[in-house]
Amino acid sequence: MPSSRLSGDTPPQARHQSHREHSPLPRRHPAPRKLAKTKPRCGPIRAFSFGGGWQSTAALVLAAQGKLDFEVFLFANVGDDSENPGTLRYIHEHAGPFARTHGIELRHLSRIRRDGTTETLYGRLMREGSRSIPIPIRMSNGAPGTRSCTSDFKIKVIGRWLKAHGASPTNPATVGIGISVDEIHRANNRRTEPYERIVYPLLDLGIRRTDCARIIQSAGLPVPPKSACWFCPFKRLEAWKALRRDDPDMFTRACHLENTINQRRRTLNRDPVWLTRYDAPLSEVVPLEDQLPFDDSDATCDGGWCFT
Ligand code: SF4
Repeated sequence: MPSSRLSGDTPPQARHQSHREHSPLPRRHPAPRKLAKTKPRCGPIRAFSFGGGWQSTAALVLAAQGKLDFEVFLFANVGDDSENPGTLRYIHEHAGPFARTHGIELRHLSRIRRDGTTETLYGRLMREGSRSIPIPIRMSNGAPGTRSCTSDFKIKVIGRWLKAHGASPTNPATVGIGISVDEIHRANNRRTEPYERIVYPLLDLGIRRTDCARIIQSAGLPVPPKSACWFCPFKRLEAWKALRRDDPDMFTRACHLENTINQRRRTLNRDPVWLTRYDAPLSEVVPLEDQLPFDDSDATCDGGWCFT
């Protein structure tokens, strides 16, 4: 699927610089001059963080209908090998064409390394010799470990685009996050950066998750699958069970990932960690048959950058 890389964008500052470099009349003895203070060259930026799930797709429809004032939707793709393949397919086949038809920019962003290559979350997890576990892996007591995935692969990636397009502490961008009323506990500004102002338009409109499905369908679009990395440890057992049933190859990959992480930890004399909160390997926790342990977990990604 198309993925416009952040490094490929030409911010207004860069265009200005390029123009100056090609001036036909260079001065021989340029007088020393004060560097002008950097001023934002853009007007206020309004962008919506697009996760490809129900809430942000409903926001896209509302923007197309003129009910939300956002012309740019930013999809921080954590990796074609990491996102739910169903989400990537949905964006390619439905959300992208819908946005184009309605004059809305749905931009794909990736995490770009200094050497210009793209880093993916799955790639970082599987990197030979890697010691860090950037995802909310479950410790033996079931609690999620500290994660950096959302910050590194979503918040910073979107932030970099915003700053390249003029956002700054004196010209903060307005960033819409798709949290619906029934998930209001996820609406917090703990991770707000100085160059952005977070808003929750669906909360302002009193929209619930079920309303999102209705809004999406009213625009003639199918309802998208749940958006999250296919290996996300925040997933509920029902979702793991569906993965095992519907996509056994991917379930096997998840078991392999868990196993790889624990092999590394064994060499470091560290306790095992898991993709579920049940202190046991995924293949044992998620049965092939219907019986499942009672799952009262309500842990999920706070902040609204994932699962929206
Ligand atoms: S979906 Fe889960 S694993 Fe993926 S970036 Fe969000 S919190 Fe991390």
